[in-house]
Amino acid sequence: MNESVFDPQAQIGNPDLKIIASLERLSEGFRVLLWEKAKILGISPIQIQILVFIQFHSDEKCKVSYLAQEFCLTKPTVSEAVKSLEQKGLIVRQTEITDTRSHTIHLTEAGKWVVAQAAGFANPMLSSIAEIPSAEKGVLLEQLLGVIAKLQQAGIISMQRMCFSCRFYQRNGEGHFCRFLHKSLDNSELRLDCGEYEAAG
Ligand code: SF4
Repeated sequence: MNESVFDPQAQIGNPDLKIIASLERLSEGFRVLLWEKAKILGISPIQIQILVFIQFHSDEKCKVSYLAQEFCLTKPTVSEAVKSLEQKGLIVRQTEITDTRSHTIHLTEAGKWVVAQAAGFANPMLSSIAEIPSAEKGVLLEQLLGVIAKLQQAGIISMQRMCFSCRFYQRNGEGHFCRFLHKSLDNSELRLDCGEYEAAG
């Protein structure tokens, strides 16, 4: 049998396995918090994620095809969730002037209210990292973004709007430089979800 990250015996003396197993635990915490909020609000976890995404992203990203890519779901699955949100009066779809087959999704006032209740669902996790010194947080962020970039390159996770896959990013010795912002970036200034991101060729 192949080595498993979930085998406690295999984990002993193997930090790689323990790191991946730890990330799985964190993702479990994220899922639990999301489900708790979904139960309170009476909508599904993916519906919450769609509403929160729409709140914080520009119109060209608020389309079924983009959402499917963002959440690694099929277009029919996202269409179903969007239809349900529309029936609940939480979103409206607007036809694009330039392409009548394309729709952008917008929050209604009721949708904005739900987002106000739901957007902080992961905040209980913040206290767990509050006591890590700032410099160590920067290193942790840099390392995590590096792992995410490799997973993206391997096709395991979807496209990320992050520095390491951005055409404006440049390694600057041991540091980082953004050619869009024209400035060096400390580790802690690296971005995971950047509005100015453009995919590197
Ligand atoms: S534009 Fe944004 S994602 Fe790209 S390098 Fe600059 S800060 Fe990073």
